[in-house]
Amino acid sequence: MRYDVAIVGAGPAGATAAKILSEQNIHTILLDKASFPRQKPCGGGLQMRVLHRFKYLEEHDLIDSYSTAFQIHTSTLRHQIDFHHTRPLQAMVLRKTFDEGLVALAQRNGAFLQIGITVRDLTTDNNTIRVVLSDGTTIETSIVIGADGIWSTIAKKIGMIQRCDHIGVCLFAEYPMKQQTIQKLYGEERGVHIHLQPNGLAGYGWVFPKKEHVNIGVVEFRQALNPFMEKKNLQKNFADYLRSLKQQKLLPTTLPKTIPHGGAFPTCPMKQLTADRVMLCGDAGGLTNPMTGEGIFYAMCSGEMAAHTAIKALENNTFDASSLRRYQRIWDHEFCKDFRLMHRLSKRWGKNIDHLIQIASGDKKLMNIICEAIPKPGGVQQDKWKILFRFLYASCKNRVQ
Ligand SMILES: Cc1cc2nc3c(=O)[nH]c(=O)nc-3n(C[C@H](O)[C@H](O)[C@H](O)COP(=O)(O)OP(=O)(O)OC[C@H]3O[C@@H](n4cnc5c(N)ncnc54)[C@H](O)[C@@H]3O)c2cc1C
Repeated sequence: MRYDVAIVGAGPAGATAAKILSEQNIHTILLDKASFPRQKPCGGGLQMRVLHRFKYLEEHDLIDSYSTAFQIHTSTLRHQIDFHHTRPLQAMVLRKTFDEGLVALAQRNGAFLQIGITVRDLTTDNNTIRVVLSDGTTIETSIVIGADGIWSTIAKKIGMIQRCDHIGVCLFAEYPMKQQTIQKLYGEERGVHIHLQPNGLAGYGWVFPKKEHVNIGVVEFRQALNPFMEKKNLQKNFADYLRSLKQQKLLPTTLPKTIPHGGAFPTCPMKQLTADRVMLCGDAGGLTNPMTGEGIFYAMCSGEMAAHTAIKALENNTFDASSLRRYQRIWDHEFCKDFRLMHRLSKRWGKNIDHLIQIASGDKKLMNIICEAIPKPGGVQQDKWKILFRFLYASCKNRVQ
């Protein structure tokens, strides 16, 4: 078996790359150890910029619902930032159907899908790279795209290791719920709730109402813990969080029996995203927002960038690390500065955050600027300086009051 490109992992990163490559008639195989539809630990919240960049998501009905409001609560619940808009502020997906839909789009364009089999190894010689599968068979290819998630085998094979002190560790559950109950609890707007540092956690809790589900979870940012801080018991923290949500009337007193699941996302990009004939995308490359854990957008963007680089490499018939570094340059150009800043800030996750929310919630104009920025094509990133300057103004105002 010989392909131009073999993609390991059919999540948003791999499926996006496969769609683009097969649209250009590149002979592509998409491999995944799971069978689809499959569950993936996730909140399923998308910023609107995902839909602006990947317009086909709405056209192919992959969005479950939209939220036009959200609230960010301080740990004491004394202050909150309250956003409301006439346009959606966030889109929601169910990962089971979303990922299956992305894979179907890639297949429709001609990508070959092989599921239910694990990739174990890579071997190379001068002219080719081989993907070794768990049944002992191999696939020959010119390029491998590693999109196999946080504990990526492909990353390990090129010497990149996921650091366990730079991850977000989560516990979450997605509860089925009647539409009427969802409306009663979160309004027509399906308001999203974020609770900062619930019960002292170095992270946050989330409530993402969807069409007929509510996704609830807690995350602890390991990079924000100092060596003397004890790791929280996430099971207990999650149970306490559910109790608190019930008291706040953000959950009914009885919930369907659903077992919470664990999951993790990377909070630090890999030093190298490329090696000879190999590129890493999405969580495999550590490409998740270090402050929030938002990863679907970055997975899809990196899949897109790696696919375009692979097309160029196949045209030029050059597959060495320096040719593929084009991918890293495109990534760095668009995201590197923001990621570096967020990574630095994420080590101080939670420090003074209640105070920052108190300042922000006291300035209506700041709220309006942020609220207008969220649904824009570039999201808040586009207006970050405007937001920062207004925040500094609000902070001075708060001091003199
Ligand atoms: C609890 C939780 C909540 C989150 N909430 C959000 C959110 O609300 N919004 C958001 O944008 N992001 C969220 N994220 C992050 C988001 O889920 C990831 O960033 C995103 O799924 C990354 O996509 P990916 O394609 O890189 O990898 P994945 O979606 O992880 O896909 C990797 C695929 O590779 C396959 N695979 C792995 N190893 C092998 C192998 N050896 N051989 C073959 N196949 C293999 C897996 O089966 C899987 O299908 C959350 C993450 C967690 C853990």
